Amino acid sequence: MNLIEIIQGRAFVNNKLMNITIYVRDGLVQKIELGSVPKIGSKILKLPLNYIILPGIIDMHVHFRDWELSYKETLSSGTAAAAYGGVVLGVDMPNTIPPLNSLSTIERRLHEAKNSIHIDYWIYSGINQDLKEIDKIVRSRYVAGFKIYPEDLSLSIFEKALKIILAHNMLIILHPETHMSVEKCVFFDLGSRYVCRSLASMIESAMYVASIMRSVGADRKSLHLTHTTYYDLILVAKDLGATCDTCMHYLLLNSDNEEYGCRYKVNPPLIPQVEQLKILKALVNGLINAITTDHAPHTLQDKMLPPMMCPSGIASIEYAFRLLFTYVIRGIMSLTRYVELTSRNPALILGLEHLWGSIEEGKLASFTIIDTKGYGRVNGPQYSKACCVGFEGREYEGEIAMTVVRGCIAYERGVGVHKCGSVVPLITKLKSPT
Ligand SMILES: [Zn+2]
Repeated sequence: MNLIEIIQGRAFVNNKLMNITIYVRDGLVQKIELGSVPKIGSKILKLPLNYIILPGIIDMHVHFRDWELSYKETLSSGTAAAAYGGVVLGVDMPNTIPPLNSLSTIERRLHEAKNSIHIDYWIYSGINQDLKEIDKIVRSRYVAGFKIYPEDLSLSIFEKALKIILAHNMLIILHPETHMSVEKCVFFDLGSRYVCRSLASMIESAMYVASIMRSVGADRKSLHLTHTTYYDLILVAKDLGATCDTCMHYLLLNSDNEEYGCRYKVNPPLIPQVEQLKILKALVNGLINAITTDHAPHTLQDKMLPPMMCPSGIASIEYAFRLLFTYVIRGIMSLTRYVELTSRNPALILGLEHLWGSIEEGKLASFTIIDTKGYGRVNGPQYSKACCVGFEGREYEGEIAMTVVRGCIAYERGVGVHKCGSVVPLITKLKSPT
């Protein structure tokens, strides 16, 4: 049974857990009834009391690779890993080979994704130096927004490109660092990369983009700073009216870990412990809007290269949201905050709050179901092709029992994964990809 018509159990609705019956029709929550009147049928899911149904997790920063990088990850393996990790929607970054920065590659990506994905899927576009191409992408409305990399800030067309994107109120998701700091850092030893890829360069890049936005009177909420690592950068994001996210590896690992080798090499680099504690504070007190994984898989061969040559990235989508839920079980974070960080706020930032982000009649029947009595230990990749996770051996409390994507069981503990995904332009019916 992969398609569900009725789910009965404890669900997080209107900021509290309540015993309800959810009726699913055409992938949507058709009706919610209080209590659980016994029903009979083959497509009824009746959950035990220790399970909770949460609005499905959205990971708004992933790298599912594929194409010429399919030896590292594919749309199929990446979305299977995401389903195992409790994720119902993943938004993919454009640094694929070839890159997602032309309408034809974007159309090809969405078209190919339809047949291979386990969870729902969307993409960001990269910057194209041909401004006509940017205009075409913006008008197609196929993408969640545009990803800005440090090197984009130095392009002669950058300001013009940004203005085209902003004129259509599209989301700008910024990797907040300057190209100069990235270049300078190549020769720094592992463990001290945070010194050269500095807070100052992060603030500088955010201020630069914000100044262009101000000059055209753009909506300040169009700017999102991804994988923020410093409390002071988060304060700058707030001052600019921007939103921001961070990743679990900045909470669980620090620059001392980086000294142990390339599997801890990530961009922006891991930070010293004192900064790490401040990030946890910002996460719990609400300054950080979302948690992302920046799931960036690499092979063991890649990660065995010398420190200067090995690629950056930690592939944590299978465990990140289990590890975050451990904070809820241990009383460090409220369940409300967990749902805000993983579902409600990502849906708002992506402009998808009419379909995702809460359990409500008329929204998608996409849920992350957690066994609150479950527990486990990070034990290497399960479905991802990545060599390593970055948190091996770490214990977590609360186990993902099931991932439901529009009424379809994409992952079930003890059973496996199932292809339930579609692409966002089709789901939201903005426009069908070819
Ligand atoms: Zn990334």
